[in-house]
Amino acid sequence: MSETNPQRVAIVTGASRGIGAEIAVSLAGQGRHVVLVARDEAKLESVSRRIADEHDGASSIHPCDVSRTEALEQAVEQVASEHGRLDILVNNAGISRDNLMLRMTDEEFDEVIAVNLRAVFVACRTALRPMMRGQWGRIINVGSVSGLVGNAGQANYAASKAGLIGLTRSLAKEMARKNITANVVAPGFIETDMTEVLPDAVKEAALQVTPLRRFGRGREIAAAVAYLASDDAGYTTGQVLTVDGGMTMV
Ligand code: NAP
Repeated sequence: MSETNPQRVAIVTGASRGIGAEIAVSLAGQGRHVVLVARDEAKLESVSRRIADEHDGASSIHPCDVSRTEALEQAVEQVASEHGRLDILVNNAGISRDNLMLRMTDEEFDEVIAVNLRAVFVACRTALRPMMRGQWGRIINVGSVSGLVGNAGQANYAASKAGLIGLTRSLAKEMARKNITANVVAPGFIETDMTEVLPDAVKEAALQVTPLRRFGRGREIAAAVAYLASDDAGYTTGQVLTVDGGMTMV
């Protein structure tokens, strides 16, 4: 993958752990300056140190709750103005509040939509101006196989991730002539805090429907994101790249 000069600037949300941390490390390895966004400042600092250790890479942290619209807008604007550019936006922050539909509360629904969908809309909207000024942009939104095929107990989560696909494709069509691409990476079961808490029976059921018979690793999602963020991915837009061990192949 080609590197560029001057250095491209990337924002990764949900970069304090799990998949987002791996994405941040991977983009830094490509020579990007990566701005790490999440709520836990100490964990962001530790990922930033890892980037310095592993890649001698440049990163900075910007603690922010992405469900707070004004704070998120300010974070994106501040990064763009401090660096004079914003090239790559990875919306990875995500939560689940699983419950069967019959029992799911409005709060459980709204909370998931606020982080997984509305924050993505807000971050994209704010990032577009600096990307248009730079006449180049890569937006990668982290979805889920739940958004493709649904999942019992995840009406809120699946709706947010399915919504993300419609948002991303609309954005891809609006921005194509501005040289800004927008794509979704849809992971299957990946080993992180989010899946660690699932009951063993659920994990076993997931393995049974995964042809590769193992959970994925964060860096395997990061590799897909790094490709879509690269200069060489310039002819790929509006796509959903599923990385799920074959779970949803058609
Ligand atoms: P995770 O380990 O639970 O990490 C979630 C990340 O999102 C953390 O960095 C967390 O940071 C951040 N976050 C959550 N709420 C936030 C908020 N309000 N504001 C800012 N940051 C927030 O999850 P993961 O497994 O790495 O998942 C990453 C993405 O992949 C999510 O979008 C998830 O839906 C998707 N995904 C995961 C799997 C899987 O199997 N793991 C499968 C499909 C899709 P703080 O707590 O520090 O704020």
